[in-house]
Amino acid sequence: MSELLIRGAHTILTMNDARQELADADIRVRDGVIVGVGHGLESTGTTINAAGCVVTPGLVNTHHHLYQTLTRAVPGGQDALLFGWLQTLYPIWARFGPEEIFTSAKVGLAELALSGCTMTSDHLYLYPGGATLDDTIAAAGEVGLRFHATRGSMSIGESGGGLPPDDLVEDERAILDDCIRLVDRFHDDSAGAMVRVGLAPCSPFSVSRDLMRETALLARDKGVMLHTHLAENDEDIAYSLETFGCRPGQYAEDLGWVGDDVWHAHCVKLDGREIDLFARTKTGVAHCPCSNCRLGSGIAPVRAMRDAGVPVGLGVDGSASNDAGNLVAEARQTMLLQRVARGADAMAAREALEIATRGGAQVLGRGGECGQLREGYRADIAIWDVSGIESAGSWDPAALLLAGPTRVRDLIVEGRVVIRDGQFETLDLSATIARQNALAGKLAESL
Ligand SMILES: [Zn+2]
Repeated sequence: MSELLIRGAHTILTMNDARQELADADIRVRDGVIVGVGHGLESTGTTINAAGCVVTPGLVNTHHHLYQTLTRAVPGGQDALLFGWLQTLYPIWARFGPEEIFTSAKVGLAELALSGCTMTSDHLYLYPGGATLDDTIAAAGEVGLRFHATRGSMSIGESGGGLPPDDLVEDERAILDDCIRLVDRFHDDSAGAMVRVGLAPCSPFSVSRDLMRETALLARDKGVMLHTHLAENDEDIAYSLETFGCRPGQYAEDLGWVGDDVWHAHCVKLDGREIDLFARTKTGVAHCPCSNCRLGSGIAPVRAMRDAGVPVGLGVDGSASNDAGNLVAEARQTMLLQRVARGADAMAAREALEIATRGGAQVLGRGGECGQLREGYRADIAIWDVSGIESAGSWDPAALLLAGPTRVRDLIVEGRVVIRDGQFETLDLSATIARQNALAGKLAESL
């Protein structure tokens, strides 16, 4: 039995159903589960002094392409729209292999962890040079984050009218076979699971209708979740109308891609009927505000989605389009963008933090055990030191999003300390960064 006590937090933002906020309070953890949140708690195990800290549930990232941390700020891709951006980067990604996928995942996961993230999904949809989803699952195991890996895919290359080059697409039968292999090998549907697998064709413009439909059938058969990109920008809508003769919402509905076991990334361009469809079916959305800004895609109607009852979580998206992987900064951006669109009362800091925690947990199907600090929930906890310069003079814990900090002091996942006093307990960060930079340099030279 392992015990942990977080003692004397300045404020605990529980994100429980009553949205309780406790001052000068403690959290007691046993065997990876929260067994108490309150005042004057005692424990026989390790104690973490949280004086001067705001404590929140670990943040949840619902959309990422971890492999892209090796292609940040690539010249030629910096100022392009979505389709042009992809066409610049595909040939670079085609030179990756297992080590590139593993190392960039490790860096991306570490970066997320430092920004308060305890659970993340990843969308890997290309497998160059013998890389497999196993490489990213191994990276998450090393870093120590709760991981929802999704088996992405692309099957329509340039010669078939798709966007990616032919050498990056796979045969559809092989894709489905690998989906089965991965679910059977890694998917854990038990409580507290550290690894789950989802199925995730890349987007309607890189796979066939058949593969979308077959993947949905397979996911239902296996009891795993479905994920893809949808309605990201105007080009995306135009492609859907021209190729499928309908809007993306209709396309998703026709192929079985709605339900509480489905979440779609972006959804910047959902119209009112599509928002109603998502609300009715409890289809989730991964909102990626920085990526949407970076690619000029637009402002997702998050206020309307939330008001209608659509489950919304946050995603940093891949580091080729953000280029940062800082989840708490993403929460701040969510709040700011809704205010740009609809005024200063459109979204409060606390609501953005709620989307980043319990919202994300719900989208990933973990709302019953993650995303809140309450008894019986998994001990996924972010501890933020608010005694520094960013917070000096702040009157309210909402300063976490309005002011900072943007890095955690400590991070706990399933009761295990992953970051202590700003340092990783699970990996050698300098060595990981050095390896990453060496790989990026090698790729740049090879072009
Ligand atoms: Zn994406």
